[in-house]
Amino acid sequence: MHKIDASLARDIYAENQALAQGIQDTLHSHGILSFDFMGSIGSGKTLLIEHLIDSLPKRNIGVIVGDVMGDDDYKRIKLHDVPVVNINTGKECHLDAHLIHHALSQLNLSAIDLLFIENIGNLVCPADFPLGTDRRIVIISVTEGDDMVRKHPLIFQIADAIVINKIDLADIIGVSIPKIMGDINHLGRKTTFLTDAKSGTGLDKLLAWLTSQ
Ligand code: MG
Repeated sequence: MHKIDASLARDIYAENQALAQGIQDTLHSHGILSFDFMGSIGSGKTLLIEHLIDSLPKRNIGVIVGDVMGDDDYKRIKLHDVPVVNINTGKECHLDAHLIHHALSQLNLSAIDLLFIENIGNLVCPADFPLGTDRRIVIISVTEGDDMVRKHPLIFQIADAIVINKIDLADIIGVSIPKIMGDINHLGRKTTFLTDAKSGTGLDKLLAWLTSQ
């Protein structure tokens, strides 16, 4: 029984990988640089994307937002006057390449040069489903505690960059940023940014990395 499950899972991953490759080819053929923002619920993914949009007034940005239900994030992004597509997964805890493929048909790819995708909020499922983006970023906040990395190593391993957000709250709630950094370093050398998206602290460095890709 387990053998059948494992081969089914392999098929699903392989199909997703093939679609993701097609997405990457499509995006590159339009000269679009793309980022997949993964991370926990409430880590600050949407606010971070809002700041990035506002900080890049000369870029033509398109956004795809994923949530299990509703259009709260979609409405927030929409206020920034960029094309945005909402995806509701219903039950699924991650976006996949198939969903992105359909979302892209609702964007004018000739009119954008930067694509931000906000994945479903959790640190488990999105790791297994690359979306064909150039880079994958995982965002956590100190309010989740200082053991997030050691508990979910896979998503941090596959990420091109890690953002530790809400650092202004670390002392107040007694969370050790060096401990989080220690866990990250244990996984290998990772580009890591310390930010407070609310005040804008640290966003300049993230922005510099993003635009240098
Ligand atoms: Mg969000």
